[in-house]
Amino acid sequence: MASDQSWKEKYLQELESADNREKQWKAERNTLERMLVRTSLASEGQTPELDRLLARIRKDLRKNRVDVDAWKELQDQIDRQVALLDERQSSNDRKPSFFSRKSREPEQQQQQQQQTITESLPESTEQPEAVPGNDQDIEDNAQRLRIARRVGQLLGQMLAQVSLEPAAEARARSLQQSLLASNDWDELREGLNHVAELVIAAVTRSKREFEDFLKRLDERLELLREHFSAQSSAQSGRLHASEDLDREIREEIERVGQRLQESDNLQDLKQSVSRHLESIGQAVGRFRTQESERERALSEQLEAMQEKVAAMEAHSEQMQEQVRKERLRAMTDLLTELPNREAWQERLSFEYNRWQRYSHPLTVGVLDIDLFKRINDCYGHKAGDRVLQLVAKEFRERLRTTDFVARFGGEEFVVLFPETEPEDARTVVEKLREHVGKLPFHFRGEPVTVTFSAGLAGFVVGDTEESVFDRADRALYQAKDAGRDQVVISDNATA
Ligand code: GH3
Ligand code: MG
Ligand code: MG
Repeated sequence: MASDQSWKEKYLQELESADNREKQWKAERNTLERMLVRTSLASEGQTPELDRLLARIRKDLRKNRVDVDAWKELQDQIDRQVALLDERQSSNDRKPSFFSRKSREPEQQQQQQQQTITESLPESTEQPEAVPGNDQDIEDNAQRLRIARRVGQLLGQMLAQVSLEPAAEARARSLQQSLLASNDWDELREGLNHVAELVIAAVTRSKREFEDFLKRLDERLELLREHFSAQSSAQSGRLHASEDLDREIREEIERVGQRLQESDNLQDLKQSVSRHLESIGQAVGRFRTQESERERALSEQLEAMQEKVAAMEAHSEQMQEQVRKERLRAMTDLLTELPNREAWQERLSFEYNRWQRYSHPLTVGVLDIDLFKRINDCYGHKAGDRVLQLVAKEFRERLRTTDFVARFGGEEFVVLFPETEPEDARTVVEKLREHVGKLPFHFRGEPVTVTFSAGLAGFVVGDTEESVFDRADRALYQAKDAGRDQVVISDNATA
């Protein structure tokens, strides 16, 4: 019996740990998939063919269709593309910019772009030839390019957050362009060397500005100190003067008293009294003159001080305003002017803490524009950017002021709905979806319909910021799989 019991316990424990392993495995796989999607997005823009292969990876992931054999083939194709890139780079002359490479291969480029426009076209059977060469070199080169692209992105983020002298800013922008687009390792190496200089320039500039401010503050405080010491010396001057006056008057009165006792001649006495009175009058006059002189000097000084204090206050307000603006700039996405990912993270943590304390309903939404790549491919990047700006404007204007919307990255937006159950958030997002679907976009004279899909998830007991976000993200993938242009609420499983 006892051994039955222990077997049963062991069995249940085994089941539970298998269950936990499964959960852990699922979470890991989910994270890896998300990282793969993001990494593939970050690697885009090398060649249309490589972009097509990366899009295929994302599509398979989205459709949950990872066929190991097919992916081995896909991996070979990607390797060949990377090798081709390397060959192109070495066969180019020593100044091959991204743009000149493009213009030298218009036909091939166009051909490949045709393939990328519709992801549903049958896969090309024509594979680029493998390049003979050292695998390690190819891998090293691809690694270097990835590092340069990443540095280019980081430089972009830095530029969005600090202010540089205009000349340095222009240099940084062109540097960022070459880091993001050039394949010429010599040019990139040169660029990477300059990044450090730029970072130092940015840091030095803000440090200098702050030091200037402190210096001026210090000067103003010194003036204040001088004013107070002048005030107190004027005070002690006034004390001395009134003591002198007091003494002079007392002495004159004593002398008058003596004279009164000593003299018996009335005429003499009268003259003496009026002389002493005159002396007293002069002493009082002198005192008044000195006093008003002191008053005048003090009030002039006070006025000057008031002006200085007002200037100091204005300057400190300017500084505060500058700090506020810089913070806003660091929290705002430049293209859409919506709050960016940093701002999102801050707000999510804030609302999450509130939710933990009060347990009021709180819903997270992830919104992603449908087939956005097609807009870029058919009408160009500028048209894509315009769509992002206009859709973001609709989000900002049509969501309630208590809701919080941010650009998470690319064509993906995130919304926090405080005090709102997922079902109520769905009503809001559905309205928004219908509205965006009817927006009259026109590019190159053609009407273009823009739609988005959304996933929603509400916080439930045991949730973390990440678990809710993941559920909303998964609901978004379900919406995509179910045909896009729709809103899906996640079930509440926290796994
Ligand atoms: P799906 O419906 O499955 O979301 O398809 P999709 O084409 O929208 O998604 P995919 O993730 O394949 O492509 C997103 C594209 O968005 C790829 C990327 O080049 C583009 N993109 C990302 N950021 C920007 C940007 O700031 N401006 C422009 N114009 N395009 C961008
Ligand atoms: Mg999309
Ligand atoms: Mg997306």
